Amino acid sequence: SRVPVVVVGAGPAGLTVGNILRAAGVDCLVLETETREFIERRPRAGVIEEWAVRGLERRGLAGNLLERAGRHTACEFRFDGERYRFRYQELTGRHHWVYPQPLLVTDLVREYADVRGGRIRFGVRDVRLHDLDGDRPSVSYRCPESGEREVVACDFVAGCDGARGVTRASLAPGRARVARHDYGIGWLALLAEAPPSADCVLFGCHPDGFAGQMPRSPEVTRYYLQCPPGDDPANWPHERVWAELRRRLGAAGAAPPAEGPLIEKRVLDMHDYVTEPMVSGRLFLAGDAAHLVAPIAAKGLNLALHDAFLLGDALVAWLTGDDDSGLAGYSRACLRRVWDYQEFSQWLSELYHGTAAGDSFRAGTTLARLRRLFTSPAAAAAFAEQYLGTAARY
Ligand code: FAD
Repeated sequence: SRVPVVVVGAGPAGLTVGNILRAAGVDCLVLETETREFIERRPRAGVIEEWAVRGLERRGLAGNLLERAGRHTACEFRFDGERYRFRYQELTGRHHWVYPQPLLVTDLVREYADVRGGRIRFGVRDVRLHDLDGDRPSVSYRCPESGEREVVACDFVAGCDGARGVTRASLAPGRARVARHDYGIGWLALLAEAPPSADCVLFGCHPDGFAGQMPRSPEVTRYYLQCPPGDDPANWPHERVWAELRRRLGAAGAAPPAEGPLIEKRVLDMHDYVTEPMVSGRLFLAGDAAHLVAPIAAKGLNLALHDAFLLGDALVAWLTGDDDSGLAGYSRACLRRVWDYQEFSQWLSELYHGTAAGDSFRAGTTLARLRRLFTSPAAAAAFAEQYLGTAARY
């Protein structure tokens, strides 16, 4: 069989590319290793930047989100036993949207497959890419029902299969470079069946380690606790988790976190990578397949959407109008924002983890950096701009 575009991976990046192609009447096939039920439930991100929501809206993909997502206008830092509210909307007129990633993925799959008639194969195995350097590439996979290998010829492959996918490994050796950074820090990522203790994101910068609270819904709250990289979640029984959250998020006049069953508990090692360029022949990478940004600044989903807008539009321009300028500039345009967000994550990492580095000099400079956010309007404006994401029209 033959199709203009094969999209590998049905995460936010792949499904957004697929939706943009279908809206322009371009045929495509999305290949996904998991089941539809699984991807519609996988908990992950929740913070979406305003420009990204506008980009989804412009492409007819934000209907449910605009109705149901929360609007966040402030975050709160806790350090030195005090609370410091950072009211970014008052400063900038802009806000964050909070919409759990499984809801976004559910909306995108429905729109792609059920409304726009896009084709998608779930449960595929052993995906391989072929002949990427010619103008007739193909993708093969093992069919879940028959076990037979199917081959699909195409014009382009969109590699949207996340951090553990196969497409990044298909970049021509020697032509792409992967730059890596390891923070040497772990985060215990938790989902609790409990309401948030404050209506906004909390950052606890404590000498015993960072703790964060990210409200997801009235019933479910995400928490993070800094831990050694590679730590075993079994080292974190219920009582220890809640005692550490109470301590690290504790501040004068603050309500303690509301305790509830922990429905997710896993350790994330904080590391980043960036693939440059994000293109090899007819393969275009998007999202976590191309670059991983540790969840420190909650940027990964936003970068995945940014890539997907540019890639979807560029593929449509080529396939329907013979305009190759979007594809030619794709990697460079994505990487500008990727590096910008990586730099902000590094800066923010010091703010979160510096007081717990076991180094009194770093603790001193970190506290100075924290205080400056609340004493210097210029420092506050710079933080707000990067925290909310560079505004631009996509
Ligand atoms: P993915 O969502 O990983 O999708 C890739 C898809 O490809 C998956 O469905 C996978 O099953 C499939 N796949 C894998 N291998 C293959 C294969 N060989 N063939 C076919 N399909 C394959 N980002 C934010 O912006 N804000 C946040 O608050 C935030 N919080 C996070 C919290 C956690 C705990 C984690 C883990 C991540 C968080 N992120 C956050 C990051 C965000 O979730 C990712 O950046 C985002 O999911 C990237 O989307 P994607 O489409 O590129 O990749």
